[in-house]
Amino acid sequence: VIDVLIVGGGPVGLATAIEARLAGLTAVVLEPRHGPIDKACGEGLMPGALPLLARLGVDPAGMPLAGISYRDGRRCADHRFSSGPGRGVRRTTLHAALAARAAALGVETLVVRVGEFEQGPDSVAADGMRARWLIGADGLHSSVRRRVGLERSARAPRRFGLRRHFALAPWSDRIEVHWGRSAEAYVTPVAPDLVSVCVLGPARTDFDSAIAGMPALAERLAGVDAGPLAGAGALRQATTSVRAGRVLLVGDASGYVDAITGEGLRLGFEHAHAAIASIAGGPGYEAEWRRITRGFRVLTSTLVTAASGPARRAIVPTAVALPWLYGAAVERLAR
Ligand SMILES: Cc1cc2nc3c(=O)[nH]c(=O)nc-3n(C[C@H](O)[C@H](O)[C@H](O)COP(=O)(O)OP(=O)(O)OC[C@H]3O[C@@H](n4cnc5c(N)ncnc54)[C@H](O)[C@@H]3O)c2cc1C
Repeated sequence: VIDVLIVGGGPVGLATAIEARLAGLTAVVLEPRHGPIDKACGEGLMPGALPLLARLGVDPAGMPLAGISYRDGRRCADHRFSSGPGRGVRRTTLHAALAARAAALGVETLVVRVGEFEQGPDSVAADGMRARWLIGADGLHSSVRRRVGLERSARAPRRFGLRRHFALAPWSDRIEVHWGRSAEAYVTPVAPDLVSVCVLGPARTDFDSAIAGMPALAERLAGVDAGPLAGAGALRQATTSVRAGRVLLVGDASGYVDAITGEGLRLGFEHAHAAIASIAGGPGYEAEWRRITRGFRVLTSTLVTAASGPARRAIVPTAVALPWLYGAAVERLAR
């Protein structure tokens, strides 16, 4: 019997497998896609994500991120992280680093899309394997969450993300957030010759039209070689709980608010740690998950509500007029 069977080999599934091995547990990851896996993501690791990765023995290459800069056509609010930089990392680089570390620790990864599984009092069976615990790390549209009845319908607004890379030397060491009429563009340096541009907005947001509405950014990107478009959403996903018997949910599968604050990866690594600690006899996972995500749920929901209504126009002017407030919000994201 395996100790932990992990459904989904994205960054959080792999982090969970590494945590399991560090706790002396056996772990198998089931993932249908061959790595290194790419995904629509802003690719910004907030400063707080780096020590979490270092603890796992993972140090992916990338570009330092010194802070966050909010911009509209005329104004700019800037704040540098006081704790030191975060890092812009290509998803494929992050995935390869996590997968290599997991393999080195003896994690087995099988190319499988998990369908049905069966839960008994002492174990869970899936794809001919039996495990003491099953962890759903299968992302925003988690089928594990649905199968164990933990799905809850999410409140509006429904937002989506689109991402494309541009072959361009980064012009800033900040994450630039360009606020357009109904969508925002997040510009993250990820390599000395590559920037990631991620657009977040309501359904049917078109990447090129959104960028065209942000003249300063459009000018930078005009005529530059662009990679393929990747999309994700709806972003908001809600759960009734993150545990059903011997099944635990981690990462986006456990519920997600929005990418507007760029915290998904840090939170997912914290879920991975808390889930394995609870299996190993530590504090209960549900209470830990609520503690870990509380700030994210409150701040991100507030910002998304503001960004989706008439208050949207006031976001950059307020950040410029109240630098202490903007700085405090950025510092909270940096944690
Ligand atoms: C547009 C956008 C921008 C973002 N920007 C940032 C950012 O800048 N910084 C940040 O920290 N976070 C950001 N995020 C959030 C971040 O991308 C996620 O929080 C992170 O990818 C979650 O990782 P995960 O492993 O939980 O899920 P995923 O990365 O989605 O991985 C889930 C894995 O499960 C697999 N899977 C699915 N179904 C099954 C199945 N039935 N059986 C087996 N495997 C299955 C999938 O193939 C996939 O590999 C952003 C998200 C979006 C959408």
